Amino acid sequence: MQKISITNTMTGKKEPLVLNDPSSNHIGIYACGVTVYDDCHIGHAMQAIYFDVIRNFFEYVGYKVTYVRNYTDVDDKIIARAKERGISPLQLSASVIESSIRDMKAIGVRPATFEPKVSESISDIISMTQKIIENGMAYATASGDVYFRVRKKQDYGKLSNRKPDDMRSGTRDIVVGEKEYELDFALWKADSTADGSWPSPWGQGRPGWHIECSAMALKTLGASFEIHGGGRDLVFPHHENEIAQSEAANCCGYAKYWIHSGLLTIDHQKMSKSLGNHITIQKFLEKWPPEVLRLGFLTNHYQSNIDFSLQVFQTCLKRLLYYYETLNSLDQFAEQFAHDLKGGLTKEQKSKEPAKSVIDAFVSAMSDDFNSAKALGEMNKSFKTAKDLVAGKKSSQKQQDAAYLSAALKEIGSVLGLFRGDVQQEILRLKRQVLPDLGVTENEIEQAIAKRLAARASKDFATSDAVRDDMAKRGIEIRDTPQGSVWSIKFNLEE
Ligand SMILES: [Zn+2]
Repeated sequence: MQKISITNTMTGKKEPLVLNDPSSNHIGIYACGVTVYDDCHIGHAMQAIYFDVIRNFFEYVGYKVTYVRNYTDVDDKIIARAKERGISPLQLSASVIESSIRDMKAIGVRPATFEPKVSESISDIISMTQKIIENGMAYATASGDVYFRVRKKQDYGKLSNRKPDDMRSGTRDIVVGEKEYELDFALWKADSTADGSWPSPWGQGRPGWHIECSAMALKTLGASFEIHGGGRDLVFPHHENEIAQSEAANCCGYAKYWIHSGLLTIDHQKMSKSLGNHITIQKFLEKWPPEVLRLGFLTNHYQSNIDFSLQVFQTCLKRLLYYYETLNSLDQFAEQFAHDLKGGLTKEQKSKEPAKSVIDAFVSAMSDDFNSAKALGEMNKSFKTAKDLVAGKKSSQKQQDAAYLSAALKEIGSVLGLFRGDVQQEILRLKRQVLPDLGVTENEIEQAIAKRLAARASKDFATSDAVRDDMAKRGIEIRDTPQGSVWSIKFNLEE
């Protein structure tokens, strides 16, 4: 199997991946999903896209992946929002799940192998809570709450590197209520919300947030699995508590590797509705193609904090168009060779240059802690090679090289969720979106082409050249091909 290294939040180090069953190629991955009380925003897209790419990459290099992403459909925020709207919590969460499925599909994120919901895992949550109580690590109160006994878990805090006593609030009087210790957290909360609470051995209630993921992970992946992840804001308390509960219930290690993605800001500010910079996935897609979002994220390592701005989106849009234009030039240059490789490269073809170098560089970058930023950097070098290739003279060898290069770039692009669409159609779509940025309309370009053709027909080459030069100054390149004049946007992105 391909050797992969992962930065593990648990140790703070980059470690080689060793599967729980080294004789198999199976890997279990759990990523905390969304709390479904409102439409997904691009911060949700960030985590979903990174894990989608990580999963794609594992599969690409031959692993068999069981990927779990849950829906938290029982939660304080859901109950509050449902109340405002006069509907039941589960009615609200069902409609938000539906829009989340639509949004994830629109940004090319594949459904997970399992997508469990809290509301459908209540009996698993109750039996896990019972087990933790039996093991002496949790207790029920007279009011019907159940708390985890933090002090009894000797290594509590090992993920976030915190010691329970340091986290206590010192000399201030803290109302611990029925808790034995102020840091004890709820596994079960007494509650009687209609359509949002369930009977249990401790009375009517609903689960605490952290136990949900522990129970859903156990049900879908077993007590121990390889990778657990989420956004960095989940390290404490969510993931710390998940570890405490799962180890208290199952008496063995939980996830082996913890990976956490960075946080997203817009114009250096946290996204919030009150600041007016809260961008839902839907709102984003009204203006930009989904691949802009992917490229925006993947240009960074998943652990980096990312700051998005209009400029970032515009740069990604232009870069995408450059990629597609270059793929198109390769295919046109390769002619029949490109047609022959339409179905993709065979294993044998992948071992031939120039496909081999492109794929090897990609696999090597991604195997090093899923470094998509480096992978894209390598890809950019191949696009530069491609530009040089199609600018040269045709020979059947060069045409074959072009076809292999194009097929290899499409193949690795697809692992990143790029270049999956029809090249010609994407070019049209992207061109239309880039033009306003250059201050040129499609109509002006068509008129310039017509004027140039008329000038050439009457052998007025001075005018014809002037028209072409004028457009070039505005960022539009007009070229003559056997099929007539075509235009493209000039890029200077190779460096
Ligand atoms: Zn979780």
